[in-house]
Amino acid sequence: MRLAWHSGFAQGARNRFGGLGSIIMLHRVRPDCISPLGVTRSLSITPKFLDEILVSLKAEGTEFVSMDQMADRVQNGVRSDRRFVAVTLDDGYNDNLNHAYPVFQKYHVPFTVYVAPGFIEGAAVLWWEVVEKLVAQTTHIKVPGGPEWRCSTVLQKRAAFHGLMRYFSYTLTELEQLPVLREMCTEAGILCGVAADQDVMTWKELQQISADPLCTIGGHTVHHYNLKRLTPRMVAQEMRQSADMIGDHLGKRPVHFAFPYGSAKAAGRREAEIAKDERFVSAVTTRHGTIHVEHRTNLHALPRISINGRFQKLVYAQTMMSGVTTPIANAGRRVVQGD
Ligand SMILES: [Zn+2]
Repeated sequence: MRLAWHSGFAQGARNRFGGLGSIIMLHRVRPDCISPLGVTRSLSITPKFLDEILVSLKAEGTEFVSMDQMADRVQNGVRSDRRFVAVTLDDGYNDNLNHAYPVFQKYHVPFTVYVAPGFIEGAAVLWWEVVEKLVAQTTHIKVPGGPEWRCSTVLQKRAAFHGLMRYFSYTLTELEQLPVLREMCTEAGILCGVAADQDVMTWKELQQISADPLCTIGGHTVHHYNLKRLTPRMVAQEMRQSADMIGDHLGKRPVHFAFPYGSAKAAGRREAEIAKDERFVSAVTTRHGTIHVEHRTNLHALPRISINGRFQKLVYAQTMMSGVTTPIANAGRRVVQGD
């Protein structure tokens, strides 16, 4: 990526691949990384790096837009010499308020936070973080009625983490995940799913941040289930309920949505259709790509550019936003839709 940027290739390719602009995806923004095994490090960037990205985009003449403005520009085919960037953050971490928000304020950059109310009320847990904690703190792990792992060394712990991730994601059903995890945590004496122990914004904090016109709150389902593994009725319900709950607490029903996990394994055409039927204006995935005029008729499976905490280098972000990496990540396709 560094070569692509410094050779001028990515800047040149931007006209062909960069399209109308990009939607950036972030999760955590905090000065320190709290991933005990380093396995979820990609989900966390520092406020300093966020600052650098915004400064560099501003210097390039990027127009920062809200998701409403993004949808408007794409739908109406607004052509502009200036590319847009919409910044989004998934899951509603409280560091978004404490560390990211001051940076957005400083440069007057609009941003969208996708919130899953289940995390706030303890009906859902950021289970990948709990699994990491569990593996970090124990030397042997057993899933009730399932496989077991030794985890004394760092290597064993990493293997156990990835094994557990697969087991929770694909062997257990979405509804089984939480009870099984709770049982394992009780066994190990670790807190699980206590709302106060999760690093997410409370309703009060969300009221505070969403009072700023720079902030948009989007839906992210209630329980953060993999929607592909639910019935169509449950999918619609998860989408509708999350919007209703957010609307009740914040006084404004969200019109933008992010699919939990958002990969091809978690969100496809069916889910995009349901998001459209549920009257969301847009829905974003975690597929890698920039936004093009072709998305005009398909605002419900939009790709994003994930800023990876493992590689906090400006040049990587710039190269990805030029669109040059889109075909590489998507079997040659320049425009990524949700199928
Ligand atoms: Zn999420």
